[in-house]
Amino acid sequence: MSDLNSDIAIARAAKKKPIKDIAARLGLAEDDIIPYGHDKAKISAPFLSALAGRPDGKLILVTAVNPTPAGEGKTTTTVGLGDGLNAIGKNALICIREASLGPCFGVKGGAAGGGYAQIVPMEDMNLHFTGDFHAITTAHNLLAAMIDNHLYWGNELQIDSRRITWRRVLDMNDRALRHVTTALGGVANGFPCETGFDITVASEVMAVLCLAENLADLEKRLGDIIVAYRRDKTPITARDLKADGAMTVLLKDAIKPNLVQTLENNPAFVHGGPFANIAHGCNSVVATRAALKLADYVVTEAGFGADLGAEKFFNIKCRKAGLKPAAAVVVATVRAMKMNGGVAKSDLGAENVEAVQAGCANLGRHVENVKSFGVPVIVAINHFVNDTEAEIQAVKDYAAGLGTEAILCRHWAEGSSGITDLAEKVVALADGGTADFKPIYPDQMRLFEKIETVVRKIYRGAAVTADQAVLDQLAAWEDAGYGDLPVCMAKTQYSFSTDPTLRGAPDGHIVHVREVRLSAGAGFVVAICGQIMTMPGLPSQPAAEAIYLNGQGEIEGLF
Ligand code: ADP
Ligand code: MG
Repeated sequence: MSDLNSDIAIARAAKKKPIKDIAARLGLAEDDIIPYGHDKAKISAPFLSALAGRPDGKLILVTAVNPTPAGEGKTTTTVGLGDGLNAIGKNALICIREASLGPCFGVKGGAAGGGYAQIVPMEDMNLHFTGDFHAITTAHNLLAAMIDNHLYWGNELQIDSRRITWRRVLDMNDRALRHVTTALGGVANGFPCETGFDITVASEVMAVLCLAENLADLEKRLGDIIVAYRRDKTPITARDLKADGAMTVLLKDAIKPNLVQTLENNPAFVHGGPFANIAHGCNSVVATRAALKLADYVVTEAGFGADLGAEKFFNIKCRKAGLKPAAAVVVATVRAMKMNGGVAKSDLGAENVEAVQAGCANLGRHVENVKSFGVPVIVAINHFVNDTEAEIQAVKDYAAGLGTEAILCRHWAEGSSGITDLAEKVVALADGGTADFKPIYPDQMRLFEKIETVVRKIYRGAAVTADQAVLDQLAAWEDAGYGDLPVCMAKTQYSFSTDPTLRGAPDGHIVHVREVRLSAGAGFVVAICGQIMTMPGLPSQPAAEAIYLNGQGEIEGLF
């Protein structure tokens, strides 16, 4: 099974440097880091606070076309570009999300990049890492336990047990836990409730941790989380249950960014991991802010394609954290262009220039959208071995027609030397001063109009529909003072529309908002359009079946 070219085999052969040496490159003394073993460290709180007065480096977003099921290599390209920038002599730092165990043991595999553009130690990063997800899971479930306990001891707050919205979480794909009944077995065990589990990355605590400015802000946001309603529909918060203090205690280390390195010994922050559907899908604000103080160029990734990932990165994270991206890279692959051009997955191996050309409409739409936020764009073609010259040229020609350049990148196979061309161009773009970032809707706009704006401008849909109950709910939240929050769109990542099979660049479609949820702690209103999964299941042959320890005690089968 041990394949010398597998992600894990490449990662294992890495010549890692002690983490204190990586920290030293960023100007951190030994006291400024809290080592977790030899190759991982957290950044100390006093050091983070002392950074405030420093100037900011330039922020570069890596986003992508609508993906094929395997992923298009956004993380691989983020890591590769970080290495490429360092290779051309720039001081660059990478900021990505932590990995969830669900996809690791399920279909997608790890989240450390791939090939010769990876974060190491990839085994740790993809498994328990520095325990952040454990802390988030525990803080979330403490709150759940305190709700049930409150009911048990007399329910002084008058929680309507039918209106408890706070579920439990676990970092695992486990469809059997989507709907459960708790407190069975008699009087001593409390009041039976119908509830369920979500995957940890879908927890609002995760989104809160990733958007919090510091510990004090974390505690305030945790307190603001709405967990249930009374019979009169007034909300009950984590603060009402006096859970915010203890939750903050559980998260006091998890909020500190994790420092690791790439295969080429360049520094990377790996911190936070909110779902890109029910949440905003970017690494933590704390890590991005710190990175901007420590490096001249910061490369970061937003989950899914640009219609979801970049839109929420801009409209939620950048708006709320006051970040001003200097440039964006849209990752495209020949195979994704083919699939967007109508080719089935099983036929991706054969050259098909016409399909690539047709599928490029998808790329064009994303490039135009990202530009509409005032951020200049360059396209990275993530090279796969089966791509043909003619297919690659078709993507380059299409991009040129848009007034944008598409650069072929071979970082997956070659590391930084395969991506220096893109690195040079990104520096020129970011330093060119053409960026003039603006979110596409103002805080003051009505919530439904914000949804309409995203649907019209980004998805190119004709209209948004919603039941009266949804409209009434949005109006009620506006009356309660939540009207200036951004919206967090939850829809399929495979299409601009809500139909995952509608690839390419569809327009004129209708987007139906099925449900809305208030994440008062995170600070957004989630608009659920179509089916979304907050607790994934495992496939018929989960990756877990091929993961084991070999005779040397090394992990095999992670990818
Ligand atoms: P994303 O961040 O877009 O979801 P990843 O960067 O995690 O995608 O990559 C998904 C998988 O695809 C990884 O296993 C990675 O090794 C693989 N991959 C990425 N780029 C290439 C490439 N150019 N050739 C072959 N495999 C690749
Ligand atoms: Mg990724």
